[in-house]
Amino acid sequence: MSSSASTLRRITVLSGGVGGARFLQGLFHGLRSGVVPGGSADTEVTVVANTADDWWIHGLKVCPDLDTVMYTLGDGIDVERGWGRRDETWSTRTELEAYGVEPTWFGLGDRDIATHLVRTQMLEAGYTLSQVTEALCRRWLAPAYGASVRLLPMSDDRVETHVAVADPDSPSGRRVVHFQEYWVRLRAAVAAEAVLVVGQDAATPAPGVLEAVAEADLVVLPPSNPVVSVGTILGVPGVRDAVRATSAPVVGLSPIVGPSHVHGMAAQMLASIGVEVSAGAVGEHYGARAAGGVLNGWLVDERDAAQLSRLEQAGIRAAAVPLMMSDHDATAAMAAAAVSLVTAPA
Ligand code: GDP
Ligand code: CA
Repeated sequence: MSSSASTLRRITVLSGGVGGARFLQGLFHGLRSGVVPGGSADTEVTVVANTADDWWIHGLKVCPDLDTVMYTLGDGIDVERGWGRRDETWSTRTELEAYGVEPTWFGLGDRDIATHLVRTQMLEAGYTLSQVTEALCRRWLAPAYGASVRLLPMSDDRVETHVAVADPDSPSGRRVVHFQEYWVRLRAAVAAEAVLVVGQDAATPAPGVLEAVAEADLVVLPPSNPVVSVGTILGVPGVRDAVRATSAPVVGLSPIVGPSHVHGMAAQMLASIGVEVSAGAVGEHYGARAAGGVLNGWLVDERDAAQLSRLEQAGIRAAAVPLMMSDHDATAAMAAAAVSLVTAPA
């Protein structure tokens, strides 16, 4: 055996969509180019992806975060958009619109639809989402990564994030919409009054999820949305406890840089749960493992260096480094810094 105490044989990453996928791309780049301390091309990475954005549309089961990770790592992603298939066409969408089929605000690309058709047929034939994901990954991940990457849904059970927004026309003064409606139709431009994760309490982690956390040498929270990506994964009963109990160090990277998120709607989601929108506050929200939370270490952007002392005071080892995923080298350097933060002697 060539492994030593500092060798990273297994890394487990709790990922959302675009932010998580870009981080994973940089992590693999760093593992293969040798810049991640203890890591190598043989390091096995298990990605536990958020499935609370999933929904059924036009009779199809769509899993945005699983697909974003799969297409990104498998080099099928539309790089500009950050989601969906490259060289996409939209004929099906146009035809559905011509029939007046609602909702017209959510468009599925023609190439992407093939993925959802395969998934939906397999689910209807009785396969679990885990089994379907494994089958889809045979196309997207196996050729480039072999056994060194595994993509797991957080749960095979239906879990759906819903968002409460103000609605003066409703007797209660609010309306609850599916996460996709909040994000795609409302463009997260109205305040989120609450986030409700329907089905979460009754969900169980998908096969392999708890083991992947328990048996990892390192657990990483990438700069994914802390509420509706990482938060929903940690909220599946058993997952947070597994992260708290693992012997592996747990390190996270802030999705908040300076006053807001880099892309997406982390600020709106943090506001809805009463957490200040800052790198330090998100670290405190996850909390130190020594104080009932999940983090050993938390990386913030160099612009947020002033937040380091509050994190250290909260019992979280912290460092400030460039946290913009501008290219694979920059992202690999972030991954390397995350590993160093929790593996180097204090
Ligand atoms: P989603 O499911 O597609 O929303 O993706 P994730 O939840 O995985 O990630 C979204 C988060 O990634 C957003 O809150 C962004 O702030 C964060 N993010 C995106 N690009 C960057 C970046 O370059 N640096 C950092 N630190 N965060 C980023
Ligand atoms: Ca997502």
